[in-house]
Amino acid sequence: MALLNAMPAMEYESVNPFDGKTLRTFVTVTDEQLEKKLEVAQACYETWRHKTYAERATIISKAAALMHRNFDDFARLATLEMGKRIGEARGEVQFSADILAYYAKNAERFLAPVALNPNVGSAHMESSPMGVIFCVEPWNFPYYQLARVAGPHLMAGNVIVVKHAGIVPQCAIAFEKLLTDAGAPAGLYTNLLVTHTQSERIVNDPRIKGVALTGSVAAGKSIAAKAGANVKPSSMELGGSDAFIVLEDADLDHAVKWAVWGRMYNSGQTCCAAKRFIVVEQVADKFLEKFRAALAALTPGDPMDEKTTHGPLSSEGALVQLVKQVDAAVSNGAKVSLGGKRTDRPGSFMDPTILTDIKPENPAFREEFFGPVALFFRVKDEDEAIALANDSDFGLGGSVFTKDDARGARVASRVETGMMFINNISWSDAELPFGGIKDSGYGRELGNMGIQEFVNKKLVRFGKFEAPS
Ligand code: NAP
Repeated sequence: MALLNAMPAMEYESVNPFDGKTLRTFVTVTDEQLEKKLEVAQACYETWRHKTYAERATIISKAAALMHRNFDDFARLATLEMGKRIGEARGEVQFSADILAYYAKNAERFLAPVALNPNVGSAHMESSPMGVIFCVEPWNFPYYQLARVAGPHLMAGNVIVVKHAGIVPQCAIAFEKLLTDAGAPAGLYTNLLVTHTQSERIVNDPRIKGVALTGSVAAGKSIAAKAGANVKPSSMELGGSDAFIVLEDADLDHAVKWAVWGRMYNSGQTCCAAKRFIVVEQVADKFLEKFRAALAALTPGDPMDEKTTHGPLSSEGALVQLVKQVDAAVSNGAKVSLGGKRTDRPGSFMDPTILTDIKPENPAFREEFFGPVALFFRVKDEDEAIALANDSDFGLGGSVFTKDDARGARVASRVETGMMFINNISWSDAELPFGGIKDSGYGRELGNMGIQEFVNKKLVRFGKFEAPS
């Protein structure tokens, strides 16, 4: 493939959002360097695809063990680069290591041949890898997003080339080194410091056999269109505006605790964060009062300090964008119940914010707020709560709080999303599928469904039939 962009550009910059200091900058690869990396990845696939699951697991489980052992170093890097509070960063690293370990142990079971029952003869379905998969990943979980593709897809026998977000190059490089330190052959996992233009060319490259993107709707539409034009399978994990439904029979204190965590975890920068709080009017005032008091009690500080309860956003750009969105929401009629402004202190901090009175004609009604901004809605009853939850372009996750599990299950069935959680909030587990519908994307990552995304499900049919004469 002829790649045209010969000039390297400075696109990857590591800046601490707590104090605005630039930590390191990196130049993007030249087209010649990129070509070499793709060649090595393709060559690696030709041997990796023939390895047994046990051979693959030796490397992936070693990576998991190394990540567990050095979790604090990984965590500190994430805190420095994108401002995640250190306790949350440590949790993310441990979870990422658990994901790698889980697929090292379980991939063979998920991908074992499945016997079929044809009317005549016999048949089975076998699973085989597809080749080099291109993964495009966001900064908000700088390791978990990588483990989520590396664990399943490498164990399935594919190799991956990864374009991580421009603001977390050090985490991206640390994860690539983790695989190398675990004994991965050259080309098994390749971090690519590439431009968007180069990314598009990678999707077009015939050596790439699938594309997995996690990120914004705009990025998803752009990359999915390129994958579609090349008839390549893709999975898209995009944005969300999850509903957090509180019914009149909910345990309010339990719900408020989850509301705070669901909105404020990772400074509100989670795709499946609780973003729209939809509360039945009987308990709406009480809920709002408790929620506001709990958010107001959070104090901004150094994310490296374990005592800090509210960290910065990932970058100055993210903060400026969020403040603009809140200003636009207010100028279109929303009321500020709490916060609403950039925090008066150095660093990229946003005050914990609650907006109310958001009417359908307000642009905020349909937007994703990627930060500590809660949209609060008051509804008459369960039916109105479900209708409002479904009046969204997104369909990632959602939750419902009620003391009645049967009622929770009924509401969960009627909400149009890829995931629903009863009496807790949208979350991810190594063994469960994760993903959405509508503008939140398609396909699933993790779980049995996730590992099947980039494997060839081949029918093998036995039968001594005579050809028709
Ligand atoms: P983003 O701007 O779309 O970036 C995500 C990744 O896509 C980055 O690596 C980015 O690279 C790359 N990218 C963006 N546009 C591209 C293009 N035209 N061609 C090639 N690559 C492109 O998203 P973000 O703001 O970093 O992340 C937040 C969004 O991700 C939110 O909407 C959030 O809900 C969503 N998200 C979804 C999930 C899920 O599982 N559903 C999980 C986490 C986050 P650069 O950084 O170099 O621009």
